Amino acid sequence: MRLQFPSGVAGAGSRTRRPDPGPVAQPRGFLEKKMAIPRLRHAVRTLFEVPAALRLLSRACSTFHAFTDVLRLPKRQMTKLVFPLQELERQLTPDSRLDLHVKIFDPSLEDISKAEAVFTATSRNRISYLSSAVRLDHAPDLPSPEVCFIGRSNVGKSSLIKALFSLAPEVEVRVSKKPGHTKKMNFFKVGKYFTLVDMPGYGYRAPEDFVDMVETYLKERRNLMRTFLLVDSVVGIQKTDSIAIEMCEEFALPYVMVLTKIDKSSKGHLLKQVLQIQKFVDRETQGCFPQLFPVSSVTYSGIHLLRCFIANITGNLKTDGL
Ligand code: GDP
Repeated sequence: MRLQFPSGVAGAGSRTRRPDPGPVAQPRGFLEKKMAIPRLRHAVRTLFEVPAALRLLSRACSTFHAFTDVLRLPKRQMTKLVFPLQELERQLTPDSRLDLHVKIFDPSLEDISKAEAVFTATSRNRISYLSSAVRLDHAPDLPSPEVCFIGRSNVGKSSLIKALFSLAPEVEVRVSKKPGHTKKMNFFKVGKYFTLVDMPGYGYRAPEDFVDMVETYLKERRNLMRTFLLVDSVVGIQKTDSIAIEMCEEFALPYVMVLTKIDKSSKGHLLKQVLQIQKFVDRETQGCFPQLFPVSSVTYSGIHLLRCFIANITGNLKTDGL
């Protein structure tokens, strides 16, 4: 496999140096001081402009909650935001493009728009936190299809669920991270469409009753349509992730790998991780959906596609194309 860097991205060794400006003259006289003031003003202005620019960026990202805003972007930028895997694929040489399965789930922009209605809270589509449970027999008994999200603590699960529910801002995604706090399964009702379950984050020292709870849920929940297993794209599959993968495989569950925090890495690093994970999925798994879902809860990259996928697998996207 050969990586092809995008034009303009040079390897570390080929960085071009600026010509040495030589010794910088220090302002001494009145004239020099006068000349230095605008420079100082400029520096101060720049200092204030940086946070302003960051605020602007975060405001810009926050407008991408809704797909109508995304559709207004220039095509290239829109593709990058909506189909991050396709954007990564572009970095590969043609012969290694087949390594990534980018078009197994390949909805049209119209389908993605349609799916958004499922995630938009209205008076007719109530999206809300329902209840929490520590045991399966305490879980709400709902007829609607269910999807669950599992992952290591700190993988970005709460942030992802918040991003998915950003069109229902009144939904409170509860987080209980303090050590010693009871870890619970949190149920969210998405209108009449489906239920989303936020499973407790796991780690090395997950207590036995917690493992029992997750295992029992995954094994016995009858309306569970799909499990979304979150992996941090910065560090790739870790030991605890492998245990969760083994569990899904053993119970023959249909599951999907979601790669979180993709805004954090350089393109090269992200591509390396994604290819490694893809290879693992192709060779070592049976139940995992072959297409990976990279996402960022900060830039909203991949969020709209994931919403569409969830709407589709829960039977809420009526379309001929998929
Ligand atoms: P959880 O323990 O799996 O629920 O993880 P959180 O959602 O609380 O996220 C853990 C940390 O990662 C927090 O500091 C988040 O701000 C950060 N984080 C989560 N998602 C992203 C992301 O997409 N991009 C970046 N840059 N940081 C993220």
